Amino acid sequence: MRNPATGPRVLLKRLRDVMAKSLGPQQRLDLIVQSIAANMVAEVCSVYVLRADNVLELFATEGLNPDAVHQSSLKFGQGLVGRIAATARPINIADAKEHPSFAYLPETGEEHYSSFLGVPMLRSGRSLGVLVVQNKASRTYQEEEVEALETSAMIIAELIAAGEMEGLNKRGIGLDLSKSVRLKGVPLSDGIGSGQVLLHEPRVVVTNLFNEDADFEIKRLHSALSELRVSIDDMLSRGDVSKDGEHRDVLEAYRMFANDRGWVRRMEEAIFNGLTAEAAVEKVQNDNSARLMRQPSAFIRERLHDFDDLARRLLRQLMGKPQSNAGLGMPKNAIVVARNMGAAELLDYDRDCLRALVLEEASPTSHVVIVARALGIAVVGQAIGVVSLAENSDSIVVDGEEGVIYLRPPADVAAAYAEKEGFRQTQLAHYAELRDVAAISRDGVGVDLMLNVGLAADLPQLSETGAKGIGLFRTELQFMVSSTLPRLDEQQAFYHNVLEEAGSKPVIFRTLDIGGDKVLPYMQQIPEENPALGWRAIRLALDRVGLMRVQLRALLRASRGRELSIMLPMVTEVREVVRVRAMIEKEQKLLAGFGHELPTNIRLGAMIEVPALFWQMDELMEAVDFVSIGTNDLFQFMTASDRGNSQMANRYDTLSRPFLRALRNVVEAGKRNNIPVNLCGEIAGRPLAAMGLIAIGYRSLSMSPSAIGPVKSMLLALDVEKLSKTVLQQLPEPSTGQTMRELLTDFADEYGIPY
Ligand code: PEP
Ligand code: MG
Repeated sequence: MRNPATGPRVLLKRLRDVMAKSLGPQQRLDLIVQSIAANMVAEVCSVYVLRADNVLELFATEGLNPDAVHQSSLKFGQGLVGRIAATARPINIADAKEHPSFAYLPETGEEHYSSFLGVPMLRSGRSLGVLVVQNKASRTYQEEEVEALETSAMIIAELIAAGEMEGLNKRGIGLDLSKSVRLKGVPLSDGIGSGQVLLHEPRVVVTNLFNEDADFEIKRLHSALSELRVSIDDMLSRGDVSKDGEHRDVLEAYRMFANDRGWVRRMEEAIFNGLTAEAAVEKVQNDNSARLMRQPSAFIRERLHDFDDLARRLLRQLMGKPQSNAGLGMPKNAIVVARNMGAAELLDYDRDCLRALVLEEASPTSHVVIVARALGIAVVGQAIGVVSLAENSDSIVVDGEEGVIYLRPPADVAAAYAEKEGFRQTQLAHYAELRDVAAISRDGVGVDLMLNVGLAADLPQLSETGAKGIGLFRTELQFMVSSTLPRLDEQQAFYHNVLEEAGSKPVIFRTLDIGGDKVLPYMQQIPEENPALGWRAIRLALDRVGLMRVQLRALLRASRGRELSIMLPMVTEVREVVRVRAMIEKEQKLLAGFGHELPTNIRLGAMIEVPALFWQMDELMEAVDFVSIGTNDLFQFMTASDRGNSQMANRYDTLSRPFLRALRNVVEAGKRNNIPVNLCGEIAGRPLAAMGLIAIGYRSLSMSPSAIGPVKSMLLALDVEKLSKTVLQQLPEPSTGQTMRELLTDFADEYGIPY
């Protein structure tokens, strides 16, 4: 039976009155503990708040020695209070002194009290402190009392989260929420960013905690729940969810949770006890998070994410808030923090303000990461827990080289990174000055420095870097960021815009390189054991000729009156090039038949990524107008080491003799056949590697926009002839002596070449 004179509803009413009064933080807290003690007929009620140094400090008490406030403390994990904070679980016992964790604090005078009920003050499943009631008589508190104390704990947690308690502690140590945190994730895209946190999914702050009318709130909850269920069903039935993909599994799990009776019942209970619908969602989610975080099974902990996500959606539904921050105003130096996001969502942010991206999930091959890399945005992934630890506007440093994040960094770390950033800015200013300087070595050898791009947002880089042209336009990126297959007219408009922006500079369009790890959400995927070796790129295009034909037609139409350069990815045999050439000719005839203006000239090239081409090099060069080496794939196939596997990342050297010898072969074949040879893998953008490539004869390198400055800077200081002589002399030597990397490093050091 609920006692109408006490009971949770009455307690909440009292707390609401306390919150409505205009009081200082200490006074308010004192009044809160007094109200709780009175309502629960407890002789003691105390609040312990977790500080940044992992100590729980007594912040207020009714019943214990008042002199102990801000003097008495317990370490996280120590005593009953410390244990509650550490486990995020209540303790309810008739005789506290009998508990093995009991720690006696003489200054508080608590030895008189037997029964003890303590609950964690939770936010996003984390303990911000502990709320305790005690009685002299030995008894166990009822479930209803536990519920009342938990609800009160949530209200105090909101006060802490709102910053009300900052500064109350006498020792000048900040509270746990303001603690600086270092998180180790996985580096996914180079660069350093410092700025302010912008949570991708806005955290809803529940300000309206107490209800006026429980029935009305229950109705609100149910209507938000049905809207949520409908929106999940909608997402599931939409064509943009792949048939059996992981995305679908997550949504299925959401649907299951959204219909979970236990979850709904607990929220109803919290509303009945006096909370608004949104406060009830938050309270139940806090309990859920705390419970699931403690689960040893990684699978169950993973479900916590889903549940969190769902609760956040429900909260936003209740409060009429947008589901994402993208597209809204953002700070000048925003660092977007998210559990995960789609590539298209990233593009909704203003790129000029976006400094870095932090994700709890994502791998090097996630679409959002590929796009971020293309945009030159630093990314750290697998940063577990960052979403619940970060608050909007928190200061943050993201080190995309080391894969480390500093949330609310200490002054020395912030200063060290500011210095690093300053150095980088100086370098960037230097590179900007080089923009119009010709890319010619000290001894007069010119090298074409070209760009690897793939999005409309990349195009301004062409003039900003002073690059000669676009050596690799990854057309699949447009397909990857789109939610449906781009139609012919959309593709045509997109390519036309690229050519317009490029003006007189050459552009090499690579046809769709999809399949393998580059998945299109709207295309059914056939499971493959080894996707990198599977049905991808030109192979897929030649089997799905419809897709290829549309792309060729769009390219031909977009290039009317201009030269068109098309490059084919993952060519394995010459026949593949011959087939595409025939397709192009057919399309040309068709377009001409309809009176369309055609390109002035068409150049067809092949990427050299598959080692089999080395034994048909002359034949290949007869069939193409140019070649470009994709060293990312070529290296993974030559060394049989997965390019996306971080364990393999530095195992074999891209400047090793066997690899450089292979690359030298292509240059020689190009000369023999009078066919231009370009190189567009990652290594072209690393100054030391670019030095080696120039030494073995490369005169056209294509790289990401941010690499143009460093590579040009290296080239301007280089004596190509001198280096070539040494390198070509050493190349045939046995691999056991000085490595080619050492040789290049020594040379650069000796002649003061920046690398
Ligand atoms: C490569 O393989 O080197 C290349 C440039 O293509 P991608 O990285 O798009 O596979
Ligand atoms: Mg490739």
